[in-house]
Amino acid sequence: MSGIRKMFDLAGSEAINLGLGEPDFQPPPTVLEAMKRALEEGHNKYGPTGGLRELRKALAERHSAQADLTEDNVLVTVGATEALCLTMQTFIDFGDEVLVPDPGFVLFAPHVRLAGGQPVFYPVLEKNEFLPRMEDLQRLVTPRTKAIIVNTPSNPTGSVMGEGEVRDIVSFAKEKGLLLISDEVYDSIVYEKGHHTFLRRTENLVYVNSFSKLFSMTGWRLGYLIAPADFVRTMAKVHYFMVACPPTPAQHAVLAGLRDPESYLEGVVKEFRQRRDHIVKKLNNISGFRCLRPDGAFYAFPSYDHPVDSEDLAMRLLRAGVLCSPGSAFGERGEGHLRFSYANSLEKIDKAMDIVTSVSAELTGPMKARKPGEAS
Ligand code: PMP
Repeated sequence: MSGIRKMFDLAGSEAINLGLGEPDFQPPPTVLEAMKRALEEGHNKYGPTGGLRELRKALAERHSAQADLTEDNVLVTVGATEALCLTMQTFIDFGDEVLVPDPGFVLFAPHVRLAGGQPVFYPVLEKNEFLPRMEDLQRLVTPRTKAIIVNTPSNPTGSVMGEGEVRDIVSFAKEKGLLLISDEVYDSIVYEKGHHTFLRRTENLVYVNSFSKLFSMTGWRLGYLIAPADFVRTMAKVHYFMVACPPTPAQHAVLAGLRDPESYLEGVVKEFRQRRDHIVKKLNNISGFRCLRPDGAFYAFPSYDHPVDSEDLAMRLLRAGVLCSPGSAFGERGEGHLRFSYANSLEKIDKAMDIVTSVSAELTGPMKARKPGEAS
């Protein structure tokens, strides 16, 4: 059971929830309307395995500024979760190694293991602005390395890769003959730095995205992947055996939303940016806490300087009324951090930060937080 789920199950209804990995907004009204219409008009049956042709076309078009795409390059999936799992099931064989970010999204490594592969963790540390370093990747690659997973903007750190990092990783993957698996589900939630995509840069790429964050509809379970047409044909077979097809009514709904996602996103990003500025300022004012300003997604990933591990600290905060995620839930190198999701109102964020301040004050002591590799 993931550390996040464990915290979530323990939380009372009174706790301020900064633990969730999902936006706190409703989907766009056009999408809600189109969903109702789809249900009433009878789009309640199985659909094509790869997704509705019109939707695949619309997605190819949406990304056509970045790459030369047709519907044959697109597969609609049951969330990015299925797209990621499907990629592993299709390409990873027993004994294959996959480079995985640490700290990183909680499903990456289990997906590799489910396919019989071996995750090999590469560090993305605060001291390097939570970005991968080429010397680490070079050091960790072996003849058995089959693929590398990258995630920008990142969950849990909120870091965003610049043009330089993207270019370096693409050259590295090409040089070593690796499949690049790029999780860009937060590409629409970026601030000053903008988004730099891995699309178009190499043929050996599976690009993963989702409607979960784009339209704040995590519960509808709709995502997609973009890859060379021959990859998509093979993956579609595995996908068929896993899920038969993606949900039909939701596909009609997002199709309507794709006509004008920008006006909705503008409001979402504006709100998230305001909250980000607020929570980062508050966290940096708490003695013992340090928080880099995240450039994307809706997570703050501060480190702290208290003599407790992150699960212990998160439990203390939970008892005091704030739900957040222990950094260790995202990998060994997440220890010494907490993840706060700012998908909550400014007022709640303020209250939560007051609680963090008082819990932190109780803990001020001479010992340092346990670091990865040290005995617990
Ligand atoms: N990738 C990352 C980095 C995520 O944070 C999430 C959701 N929290 C997913 C994939 C899965 O998204 P979906 O809801 O589309 O399955």
